Order: sequence, then structure tokens, then C-alpha cells
Amino acid sequence: MIKEIVTDAEALSAPAQPATIDDVSVAIDLLDTMASLENAASLAANQIGSDKAVIAYLDEQDSPHVMMNPKILRALGPYKAEESCFSHEAISKVTRFARIEVSYDEVPEALLHPADEAAPADAQLVRRKKRLEGWEAELVQHGIDHCKGKLV
Ligand SMILES: [Zn+2]
Repeated sequence: MIKEIVTDAEALSAPAQPATIDDVSVAIDLLDTMASLENAASLAANQIGSDKAVIAYLDEQDSPHVMMNPKILRALGPYKAEESCFSHEAISKVTRFARIEVSYDEVPEALLHPADEAAPADAQLVRRKKRLEGWEAELVQHGIDHCKGKLV
């Protein structure tokens, strides 16, 4: 379901709560909302009014990805970036890392597209690790900041 973007700084400053398999609807709402916005390459759950640690982003091929409970394990190559955000207008200067390793919980694909496939009743989140660099790494770092209640 497409949600309205939250711009209230107080709501965006609260750290997110751990997400579970019961929060798959938040992931679907994030993907729907991100797809509805022009130029949206990443969104975090608190930007659509959920307090769960869920982020979505588009990779360089414009394919959407969802991460629950993302956490940066390693970060290399700091640089200064200027970022904008759907929740506030000003451009912010932040330090980002060119290469990161992230751990996160993956939502089984069948649960993200319930209309296409019957989801197994015992579906579980899968803990994964991923190395990212460049643009995707920056989007994920921005999203993880949102989960911490940090606005760039
Ligand atoms: Zn943002």
C-alpha cells in the first residue's frame, strides 16, 4: 500500500524497533511507496510511519531490495557526500564509506509478492551478509541512519 511520507522531525528521530516476520507488510508498503515516488532510490520504514527497522533501496539496475534490521559490520574508504532526503528538503553533508559489509534479515521473495506465489506458512527471515560499494552502499548507509533516528 502506498503511504504518505513522514516529514515530522520528532517522529523521524526515534530509533527503530527490531523487525520480525510479522512486519512483512511494512516491507511491502515501503516497496509500493518507493515505486510511487519519482526519483526515490531508498526509503526507511519511519518515513512511512512505521517504527520498525526496515529499509528499501534500488540497485544500479533499478531493482528493489529490502533489508530488515540492517547493520554495518565493516566500513572502508570514508568520503564526504552531499545527500538529499524525501523527508526533509535541505541537502546535507555527511561522511559515508565507499565499501561496506552489512548484515540484515532477508524477507523470502514469496512473501513480498503474495499475489504471485503462495507463501509457505512457515516462512522465516534469513540472516544474510552483503558487501556493497558506491551508490548502493551510500543508500544503505542513509537508510541505516534513518533506522537509528538520525537525519542527515
Ligand atoms: Zn532520508
